[in-house]
Amino acid sequence: MKVAVFPGSFDPITVGHEAIVKRAAPLFDKIILAIGVNSSKKYMFTLEQRMEALQACFKDYDHVVVDQYEGLTIEYCKKINAQYILRGLRIAADFEYERNIALMNRSMNDQVETLFLISQPEYSAITSTVVRDILRNGGDISQFVPESFPFK
Ligand code: ADP
Repeated sequence: MKVAVFPGSFDPITVGHEAIVKRAAPLFDKIILAIGVNSSKKYMFTLEQRMEALQACFKDYDHVVVDQYEGLTIEYCKKINAQYILRGLRIAADFEYERNIALMNRSMNDQVETLFLISQPEYSAITSTVVRDILRNGGDISQFVPESFPFK
């Protein structure tokens, strides 16, 4: 069984995340959307809200599930027997950052492969950070988050 972990903060989920997971859905037997919990980080949405938004977005995908974890992503993969980490690449800066993490993860555990999907151009400028800024300033985020997003 091919199991992939798509790790992230998803604060909040955007249409960019949604597109990556939908494109990856046919490639794996199971995809776990795993919210990494970092107790020293401040989030705009609570863990429960972020989980709810992910669940709502993929409610029609039986093999896409939502979970949370603390600590290293690679340890989480081992614990749940996932062989793949899925990540999205938007721009060159993503590549530099992701490459380091993927190489370090591989040195810690070479049984887990990191796979990347290149973001479609129309989504490559969309970040959770910008969506949070728009929300803070009272703007309309609907074009940047999934249709089912519960906290618009
Ligand atoms: P993190 O805090 O780990 O960066 P994010 O929730 O911001 O978590 O992102 C999780 C993954 O989704 C990362 O691989 C990121 O590159 C990818 N991603 C985020 N936004 C987009 C987008 N607009 N298009 C494609 N991939 C994206």
